[in-house]
Amino acid sequence: MPPSCAPNRSRTSSTDRPPLIGAGILTPLPGSGDNGAVPNPRDPRADPAAQRPEHCPCLSGERYSVCCGPLHAGVTPAPTAERLMRSRYSAFAIGDADYLLDTWHPSTRPAHFDLDDSIRWTRLDIERTEKGGPFDSAGLVEFTAYCRKGGVRSAQHEVSRFTRVAQRWYYLDAEG
Ligand SMILES: [Zn+2]
Repeated sequence: MPPSCAPNRSRTSSTDRPPLIGAGILTPLPGSGDNGAVPNPRDPRADPAAQRPEHCPCLSGERYSVCCGPLHAGVTPAPTAERLMRSRYSAFAIGDADYLLDTWHPSTRPAHFDLDDSIRWTRLDIERTEKGGPFDSAGLVEFTAYCRKGGVRSAQHEVSRFTRVAQRWYYLDAEG
C-alpha cells in the first residue's frame, strides 16, 4: 500500500504497472502537470553545481559525504539491501550511471545505461523491507520514488529484489 502522506498521491490514478526505476523510464501521472516555474529546493539538480550535494539526495537527513557518498566512491559497500537501494536512488539523483551499473547484478545488468538528464529526482519513500540484512543473501525493498520531468511530476512504485554475492549487495530486478 502506498503511503497516504505522499503529496501528489491523490493524483496517482494509473493502474498500469510502473516502469522499473532501473530502466530510467518514467510514466507521467495523469493530471500531474504543472507549469514547472517553481524549482524544488530539495532537489539537488536545482543547482547545476550540486553534482556532489551537501545533503544526501536519499533524504536520510545526513550529509552526502557520510551517507551515500562513501558508497558511490567505493569506500564502503552497502551493508544492507535498503542502504543499497538508497544509494542507488542517490546515484540516479546525481547522475552516477557507473555506480548503478556496478551495483546491478551481472545476470540482469544492461550492457549500457544512459541516465535521462531531464529527470530530476525529488523524493524517496522506503515503504517496506524484507530481509536484506547483513547476514541475508536476498532482500526486498518496496519504495516510491518521485521525480519531475519537464514540469510534470511522476512517481515510480516498485518492489526491488536484491541479492548478496561475496558480501556485496546487488540490485537484481523488480518483483511482479
Ligand atoms: Zn544517502
